[in-house]
Amino acid sequence: MTAQKTAPAAASGPAAPAILPPGVSASDFAGAIREFITILGAENVLTDADHLAPYTKVMVAESEDLHRPAAVIMARTVEQVQKIMAVCNRVRVPIWPISTGRNFGYGSAAPQSAGQVILDLRHMNRILEVDPVMCTALVEPGVTYQQLKDYLVENNIPLWLSCPAPSAIAGPLGNTVDRGVGYTPYGEHFMMQCGMEVVLADGQVLRTGMGGVQNTNAWQVFKWGYGPYLDGIFTQSNYGVVTKMGMWLMPQPPVYKPFSIRYEKDEDIHDIVETLRPLRIAGVIPNAMVFANVMWEAAAIMPRSKYYQGTGTTPDHVLEEIKAKEGIGAWNVYAALYGTKEQVEVNWNIITGAIKASGKGRIITEEEAGETEPFKYRAKLMRGDMTLQEFGLYRWRGGGGSMWFAPVTVAKGSETRDQTELAKKILGEFGLDYVAEYIVGMRDMHHIIDVLFDRSNPEEMERAHACFAKLLSEFGKRGYAVYRVNTGFMEQTADLYGPVKRHVDQALKRALDPNGIIAPGKSGIRI
Ligand code: ADP
Repeated sequence: MTAQKTAPAAASGPAAPAILPPGVSASDFAGAIREFITILGAENVLTDADHLAPYTKVMVAESEDLHRPAAVIMARTVEQVQKIMAVCNRVRVPIWPISTGRNFGYGSAAPQSAGQVILDLRHMNRILEVDPVMCTALVEPGVTYQQLKDYLVENNIPLWLSCPAPSAIAGPLGNTVDRGVGYTPYGEHFMMQCGMEVVLADGQVLRTGMGGVQNTNAWQVFKWGYGPYLDGIFTQSNYGVVTKMGMWLMPQPPVYKPFSIRYEKDEDIHDIVETLRPLRIAGVIPNAMVFANVMWEAAAIMPRSKYYQGTGTTPDHVLEEIKAKEGIGAWNVYAALYGTKEQVEVNWNIITGAIKASGKGRIITEEEAGETEPFKYRAKLMRGDMTLQEFGLYRWRGGGGSMWFAPVTVAKGSETRDQTELAKKILGEFGLDYVAEYIVGMRDMHHIIDVLFDRSNPEEMERAHACFAKLLSEFGKRGYAVYRVNTGFMEQTADLYGPVKRHVDQALKRALDPNGIIAPGKSGIRI
């Protein structure tokens, strides 16, 4: 979909949009805007360039014009969302729902294609319920992680969150519906989600799981309800607007023991996975283990200009210097233990025994690490505390460009060396850096690479775009597809999952949103 023609300036009222929804005339859109104002109030309907600017800012390697919204509207109630759906269906205005809109590196707040109207739900930000006994919460889309954390602290509720990094300004609903992850034992966020309320394109309000049962008290405790399980189809999709979400919270453990293991050689990554995977599957290590490479560690704490002022890929000798001077390993493992003193002690002995037997790796405890970074922010993340430390990654090369490339594989050591080599080779061809970590989930392993580039340099932006496309296709050929992707590459990624999946996605779209008004192009899905 390409940018549409400019609308003529209106004689009075809201500023004429710089761009129109595809196929919608200027006068029809002006009529829709007037209806939005009637529903939401003028202050919640934004069309002028200044107000749209923050929603248009992207980190992907594409022109902002490709993702420029036609307007932003802000709803405060479910009824308003229902009324918006009616207008959108009538005038065929596409809306792109966001909750906190901080999807940095995946498209930020901007829509997949130009001319969509962003439905910003940040003002629907009530924490509807926290049950300290059942350890559950029910939140609206605009609730931020920091807000929920503050609520728990202020009310003396000993429950922990699991949040992504960096997270304070993002929120659990947006993160979970995009299937984001965190670092505590509850880090697989969608697994810990329980019950949703969704406004469908036809304006009906669906409550998933037990939510449709009158007088139920089990909406936030039993995920499956009866019949087909539906919550999944409202994640990474465009089948509805999620207006409430239930989630499980983790009881604060009596003892928390974060630790790191430092490995000196690049090739150690194979043995790290082999040594630690059995402990993860057996639940000895209860959270997702992270293996961060030297460049990730360095980028989190300093700009690369501290050691390298050149352009292109950071040379290996510079990385060796950083390792030696900053005390960073080639690979740096982070994990933690949670539980009673006795439980933690038993598991600690198992882990230290396994590392010793492997003959590689140096364990670093919290006491040994002291106040040093990056240990300190990693320790925060693994107990669900807010930290903005990983914004540092964006400063590594400067220029505001970032696209996460996150192929999924099986958690086996044999997967790592080939993937690392392939990624380094492709990034090197385009003069970019291998800023990477592997994360071992329940049994899967995500290889997370932050493709960083300078958005202010058109040539580098083009290179980064070509690099990302090549990463997707070369990894794809080998059976590695990403679990989530930025708005610039949703089509290419959907293709990797095969024609039948695409067909089913589309059939659902046609059934639930026959006019295609909700987020066309999200995950490659259109009517
Ligand atoms: P965060 O700020 O936590 O990163 P966002 O609000 O940016 O999360 O949401 C991430 C993505 O999830 C959005 O781009 C959108 O595609 C989808 N999304 C967010 N909120 C909703 C919602 N309430 N209903 C449907 N989809 C949503």
